[in-house]
This record gives sequence, structure tokens and C-alpha cells, in this order.
Amino acid sequence: MKLHYKPKRNLLETILQVEILQGLALTLRKLFSPPITRQYPQEKPPMYPGFRGQHALVRDPLTNESKCVGCMRCATVCPSRCIQIRFHEGESGERVIDQYSIEALRCVFCGYCVEVCPVGAITMTEAFEYASYERETIFFDQEALLANWDHFCAQSGHDETYVNPFWRPRGARESTLPASQRMKVPDDWTIEGQFVGTRVRQAQESEDARHAEAVNG
Ligand code: SF4
Ligand code: SF4
Repeated sequence: MKLHYKPKRNLLETILQVEILQGLALTLRKLFSPPITRQYPQEKPPMYPGFRGQHALVRDPLTNESKCVGCMRCATVCPSRCIQIRFHEGESGERVIDQYSIEALRCVFCGYCVEVCPVGAITMTEAFEYASYERETIFFDQEALLANWDHFCAQSGHDETYVNPFWRPRGARESTLPASQRMKVPDDWTIEGQFVGTRVRQAQESEDARHAEAVNG
């Protein structure tokens, strides 16, 4: 570890208290420089690609209901055990959801529930402003999760084709994506700095290089 020793002050510096003057000069400079803080909540921060925010149940535009088919995968994989699903069997043997809820206060935002869903029924939106003094408002039942979806779509302009970029890393091949996320990657998700794609891209580049080597002999 490198130690820095303060040089000794001479008598004149002691009399004039130069450090105090330097401090005052700095304060004065900062008074006239633009602020570096953000005036939240009036000024919203930009959302980073792949931000895992508030949960929502995606509304099926054909039925206007949740796309959930009650397969229970999300509830099974959830490490926090915060997803509750109850269903009964419909006339054609399909599962009819009676209750779907997420206790978001227990959620660790791992995103496993979104990743395993075979029909893209559950998603994590980019909404993050839902702090509350009431516990009940952060306990999302099916209606609340659908309302989260409606609110997110109204705010962001997305529709049922929305996939959080976290599951669409830059350069990822379709075959490497979870089944429900296999659709064309919008161009704006390939922006530089989307860190979630780096490892996948590097793995693919080395795989491509190996393949090219094998083909060319
Ligand atoms: S993000 Fe993770 S912890 Fe939260 S509900 Fe989904 S699976 Fe459970
Ligand atoms: S994984 Fe998807 S379809 Fe299956 S129960 Fe969960 S939200 Fe519904």
C-alpha cells in the first residue's frame, strides 16, 4: 500500500490559512457550474436495456385476458416462492386460472419466472416507481398484474410483442433464447453497451471461428 504524506506547511501558509482559501475557491467555482444531480422525480433517469422492473401479466389481444395457461412453471422455479397460482379444469380440459399473485416484496428479481414461461405470459417491465407505504399495493393479484401491463403499454408504447432486452442479448442466436422469446430482435436492442450480450457474443464468435477453421481445413 502506498502512503502519501502531507508536506509540511511553511509559516506564511499557516498564517494565510491557504487550505481554507482553496476550499472557499472550490465552493465558489461549484456555485456557477451546472448541477450534476438529477431532479428526481421531475426528471426521470434513462432506463438501461434489460432492466428488470415491475412484474406484469401480458394481456392476450384476442381475449383481452392474461395469456397464462397455468403450467405452473414460474411458481415451481421461483426461488422466493412468491408466486401463487390456483386453477380449475375447464370444459375442454384446459386450466382456468382462479388466482395468480406475486408477492413482490419477497421477489429477488432473478427473472426465472419470465425465462421459463412457455407462452410469454409473464414479463418484467421497465417500470420501477411502485414504492408504497401499504404492503397490499405491492402484493400483485391477477388484476393488478394485468393493470401493470396496461399501464406499462400506455406509458411506453409497447404491445404484447414486448420482450425485455435482458432476454434478448445482443447478437444472441434465436436457438439460444428461451422458447417464448424467439422472435426478431429489434435493431435498437443491438446498441453498444448492452452488457448482457457480451459473454454470449464472445462464445458465439469463438464458435464461429472454430466452425470456419473446420470448414476451411
Ligand atoms: S423474478 Fe424470481 S423471485 Fe421474482 S417472482 Fe420471478 S422467479 Fe420469483
Ligand atoms: S409459466 Fe407462464 S403460462 Fe405457466 S403458469 Fe407461469 S405465467 Fe402462466
